[in-house]
Parts: sequence; structure tokens; C-alpha cells
Amino acid sequence: MAEIIEERRSNFIHDFIDKDLEEGVYDRVQTRFPPEPNGYLHIGHAKAICIDFTTAEKYGGTCNLRFDDTNPSKEDVEYVDSIKEDIEWLGFKWDKCLYASSYFDFIYDCAVKLIKLGKAYVCDLSADEIRRTRGTLTQPGENSPYRQRSVDENLGLFERMTKGEFPDGARVLRAKIDMTSPNMNMRDPVIYRIAHVSHHQTGDKWCVYPMYDFAHPLSDAAEGVTHSLCTLEFEDHRPLYDWFLRELSIETPPRQIEFARLNLNYCLTSKRKNLALVDNKIVSGWNDPRMATLSGMRRRGYPAEALRDFVEKIGVSKANSVVDYGLLESCVRDRLNENAPRAMAVLDPLKVVIDNYPEGQTEEIEVEVHPGKPEMGKRKVTFSRNLFVERDDFMEVPVKKYFRLFPGNEVRLKGAYFVTCNDFEKDENGVVTCLHCTYDPESRGGESPDGRKVKGTLHWVSADDCFKAEIRLYDRLFNVENPSDESQGSFENNVNPDSLVVLENSVVEGGLKNLKPGDSFQFMRKGYFCVDTDSTDEKVVFNRTVELNSSWK
Ligand code: ATP
Ligand code: MG
Repeated sequence: MAEIIEERRSNFIHDFIDKDLEEGVYDRVQTRFPPEPNGYLHIGHAKAICIDFTTAEKYGGTCNLRFDDTNPSKEDVEYVDSIKEDIEWLGFKWDKCLYASSYFDFIYDCAVKLIKLGKAYVCDLSADEIRRTRGTLTQPGENSPYRQRSVDENLGLFERMTKGEFPDGARVLRAKIDMTSPNMNMRDPVIYRIAHVSHHQTGDKWCVYPMYDFAHPLSDAAEGVTHSLCTLEFEDHRPLYDWFLRELSIETPPRQIEFARLNLNYCLTSKRKNLALVDNKIVSGWNDPRMATLSGMRRRGYPAEALRDFVEKIGVSKANSVVDYGLLESCVRDRLNENAPRAMAVLDPLKVVIDNYPEGQTEEIEVEVHPGKPEMGKRKVTFSRNLFVERDDFMEVPVKKYFRLFPGNEVRLKGAYFVTCNDFEKDENGVVTCLHCTYDPESRGGESPDGRKVKGTLHWVSADDCFKAEIRLYDRLFNVENPSDESQGSFENNVNPDSLVVLENSVVEGGLKNLKPGDSFQFMRKGYFCVDTDSTDEKVVFNRTVELNSSWK
């Protein structure tokens, strides 16, 4: 008897499984994650992955990764590899990595068996004719004129289909169920089609391929899956799933259970649509940090744990809904807040001269790497006469409640000193080019020497100890909440033109060394950033992962 080894928040799927185990329908739990390798995984898949793997885990069972590769013309090994990488990154280990195509012999034998049972027939209608005679939700379909072919004729034709004697689309194999069924999926669905295409796993062995609805239950059965978890759009396919298993007398047939898809606002959770973004060069690739793909989110700096937290938070339900992107961001922020080392970077630098600080002198100040985690130690930042502060931390004429730099005002430079702005320089266009300040040597460490208070604390970097970096700021990729809703125009026309802003001249404190892609930091007051894969020895590129506070409200 399977035993619960890990306590997780229970859900309706677990309730089904508990009941199955109690009633002895199964004596173990086995699940699978069955992606079609026709694109990169997106955040919606993260939900399915977490559900499939954690359900198996909870019952001490196993979860396989199975590529549902029954549509070779749209599939590619590039996608197979990326899917594996994404699942491993999320932190899950599959028991076996399998392919529906490994079961093609078995699935083929099942088709032959159905023909012999008088439950499948070769149909010569075209795809259009099949669609036309299928009926509608309110009208029954019509029987195909080929429905009464003899078993022998069907076996002969199916064999000739398999041998490549007919062109694509000439004939199909259909299950013989009920053209009047209220469930359209039961109206003699196509189960095999001719496609003269090479397959990324089986090469040119086959020119007939099973349809998804036929391959799926049989792959589940061949593999010993007990609980086949999938999204709600397959609910209407369940009678067909069960029909195949019943007609083929599969022992201990798997049970399909459906849950709601994850929809996230401002995001596309569809491989096909994401492929269009890539193909039309609206984004730089599948892993563009603005994409709702797992590879995009990883590159953007979203921690895998944050994605798992997010899936846990939204829970498993049977009702479709749209989740607010802000919830995902808050999970990202929570994880980064906990783990990311702190540093200072000035995104839009304005030069500052500390006029009373000796030329050529520098000093090192120790500050904590993480205020909540003394075990992460201290880092050294350099203070010197020439500094940079953020351009918008100065106003020539301050607005009300502006506590940052303006002539006559004193602020704290984080961890360093109190400084007072005395003067500034402008170029011929009236753009401020340099601030002149004085510092109070008694305020080292940013401590008030005499109890006097300042209201502003600014980040800064030393011009003598910093490096230039490119910083990429991201905003939502779409201007509309539901980019899939075509009534608002095609999603390609709703792209936010400001979704990527590149800052070429940012400066980062010099102490950040040996940076590797994926390293995350909190840049004080500016958000969480991670080193991008575009970084070179000459130039570091940072992505802003998320701002410090939600901008989604
Ligand atoms: P897409 O439309 O993006 O191609 P799909 O459902 O066709 O999605 P599959 O590769 O067939 O993609 O999906 C693998 C598994 O992931 C399936 O079990 C599917 O139900 C699940 N899945 C796909 N999208 C979502 C989503 N948005 N939320 C939850 N699960 C999903
Ligand atoms: Mg699909």
C-alpha cells in the first residue's frame, strides 16, 4: 500500500487518489508529465510539473517525463532538450524519460486489435468531409460511407497505409463509436493518420502516426501510470480515453483527472503563440527575459523556488481563473529578499565631487552583505572624492517633501557619510553635469555625529572603484491584460513598446567581482538584478528581475 511520505496541502486530486488507494483500485501511485516537444515550457507548465511531481512524491510514487511526440512535423530535439533543462531547473527528477514514440509498435498493435474487434475502420473521406459530417453540438453526425467495411478490408487497407502506399490525407483510421453521441469526441474520432515525415526519434520508420487522443491513454497504460493528471480541456476527452482502455481490455487502466489551467494576466501561456513571438522577432528568443517561458524567467533571475512557491500558493482547483502577475512577482521578491546579496549600482549616474575630501585619497568602508543575514559577512565599498549618485536624486528646485539632494540640503550616503550639496554645474544645454558637496568627517558609517537628523539616504558608488554595466529594465510585454483575447486585436499588435529599456551607462560598485550569469543582487533602492548571459569580459549586462515594490497595482 502506498504510504503518504510527505505532508502537503491536500487537494481534490489527492482526495481521488486517497479513495482509489483505500478501495484498492491501485496499490501505488505513478504520474507523468507529458509535454509535446513543440516549443519551450511556460509558466503554465510549471503548474502541471509541480502537480505531477509533488503528487507522486506525496505517495512515495514515481513520475515519468514523457514526450508526447505524435506530431513530428511540429516537433524538434531542441525542444526536447530545453524541456529537460527546465524541469531539472525547477528542481524535479523524473523516474524515466520516455517518448510516446517508443510505444508506436504497441499503439499500432492496439489499432490492429481494434480493427479485428470491429471497433475501427479505414475511412476515405477527406479531412474536410469528416469535419462536415461530424455534426454540431445540437445536430448528430452522419455515418461515414466507409463505416461498414469488413475487418479484412480494413486490415488490408491499414497495412497498405503503413507501407506508404497512399499520400498524406488519403485515408485515416477511425474508431467506430457513435456518430450521434452528444460528446463530439466520441463521433468516430480519427486515431491514425498518414504523414510522410521523418520523426525526431523514430526517423523514417513510420509514415502513419497515432492521434494524441489514441496515443495518450495507451502510453499511460504501457507505462503503468495510475493517475493521468491533465488540464480541464481534456475533461470532454475522458470518455474517449476510457473507451479505448475498456475496448482494448487494458488491465488496471489509468485514471484521468483534470485540473484548471494556469492563466496569468499580461502573459501568453501557449507554445504556439510564444513561437509566433519568436518567429516574428518581437522578442529576442524563447528565453527573452520578458517571455512567460521558464527559460525566460530563469534568465530574468526568477528563482526556481519562487515559481514553486507560486504554484503552491495558487493551489489546485477545478475552476479556470486568471491569476494576477503581481502574485508571481511577490513570490520572486520574497525569495530574493531572503537570499540576494546587497550591492549599490547607479542606473543613471550624475557625478558628485566632495570638495572637502582630499584628492587622490580613498577609503574602504565595511558594510553588510545582507542586513538580515550576518552570516553572509561584510563587503568593502570604496569612498572617494569623486562619486556617482542617481540623476533623479538631485533637484535644482526641490518639490515638496523632496528629501534628497538639492542646494543646501544634507543627506546620508548609505554606509558612508553625511554630505551637503552646495553647488552644481550645468552644460550649455542646461543639463546638470556635476554636483559639489562637502562631507562631515564625523559622520563616518553614516552615523549622525551629534544627533542631527537627515531625511534622505541615498545609494552611490565611487568613481574610482566602479565598473560600467549595461542594465536592462523590463516591463510587461503586452499592453492588454489578456493578450490572447483576439477581440482586442492580435497579440502581436498589443506589444508594449517600452517593455525593454536599455541603460548603457550604469555604474556598479567595484567590489562585485567574478560575476557569472544568473548571479542575483539587490541593488539598493532599485530592485533585484541578475547577471545576464549576454555579459562578456568587457561588459557586464544586468537584467532587472523585479522592482522592490509592486508596480502592478
Ligand atoms: P500549449 O498550448 O502551450 O502548447 P499544451 O497543453 O498543448 O500547451 P503540452 O505540451 O501538451 O502543452 O502540455 C504538457 C502538460 O502541461 C499537459 O498535461 C498540459 O495539460 C499542461 N499544461 C499546459 N499548459 C498549462 C497551463 N497553462 N496550466 C497548467 N497546465 C498546463
Ligand atoms: Mg498541445
